[in-house]
Amino acid sequence: SITISGIGKGFGADDVLKGIDLSIVPGEFLSLVGMSGCGKSTLLRIIAGLETADRGTVSIGARDLTDVDPADRNLAMVFQSYALYPHMSVRDNIATPLRMRRLSIWERLPLIGRLLVKAETLREIDSAVKEAADVLQISHLFDRKPAQLSGGQRQRVALARALVRSPSAFLMDEPLSNLDAKLRAHMRSELINLHDRLGATFVYVTHDQIEAMTMSDRIALMSEGRIEQLGTPDELYGAPATLTVARFIGTPS
Ligand code: ATP
Ligand code: MG
Repeated sequence: SITISGIGKGFGADDVLKGIDLSIVPGEFLSLVGMSGCGKSTLLRIIAGLETADRGTVSIGARDLTDVDPADRNLAMVFQSYALYPHMSVRDNIATPLRMRRLSIWERLPLIGRLLVKAETLREIDSAVKEAADVLQISHLFDRKPAQLSGGQRQRVALARALVRSPSAFLMDEPLSNLDAKLRAHMRSELINLHDRLGATFVYVTHDQIEAMTMSDRIALMSEGRIEQLGTPDELYGAPATLTVARFIGTPS
């Protein structure tokens, strides 16, 4: 499980996260919700290692991640903007994380080790890429460039690129917000299927409360750098702990 303890973060004089404690259950779909600017993306980036906290720790199981490189955290981050490599084919976009991991393992080996290394051969990378593409149903798009894809297809490539690394958890920051309403509804159910199928932990940032209510096992509602309430959708809906929660639940998105 991912355990977040006492995370604090400021930008200049701005206290953005004011002591976040959160225990993420393995395999759960946890949504982080709250108003724009409440610190959702910052918290997710700290979990991923893309941002350092001023105070507090993030750990997985017994392992403190503070000095662990983002690439070695075994977490996959999916952004709203997809951030695909525009000059690469779909196949190469999906394969890149594995190629980079293979290279970094290789570079750390002494010369003799490089000759002996058997881990992650090119063929293994190839079959992992095919498998991820099959799950997301994009194998037929392998030779296209991102510019030749629809929004939903791009989103699927970004998910396949995250999936290919077999991460222990997916960290998603508003991954559907660039899609139109119909595609978003479709991708919501695809994400739920993917979650059921993989059994992996999903941490899902959205400011859309309908999305959070329909997709999540639990919701953490953030406000001004704190977690205001943590519970199942029923708990938040049925018994909002504060006025902020009640307002958020009751606001149409
Ligand atoms: P949104 O729903 O709009 O994406 P959010 O909850 O994800 O909002 P964050 O991106 O975490 O919010 O930002 C929280 C606060 O921290 C905001 O006031 C933002 O302006 C500020 N902030 C975030 N990143 C930086 C940065 N690199 N430098 C300075 N301020 C930052
Ligand atoms: Mg954000």
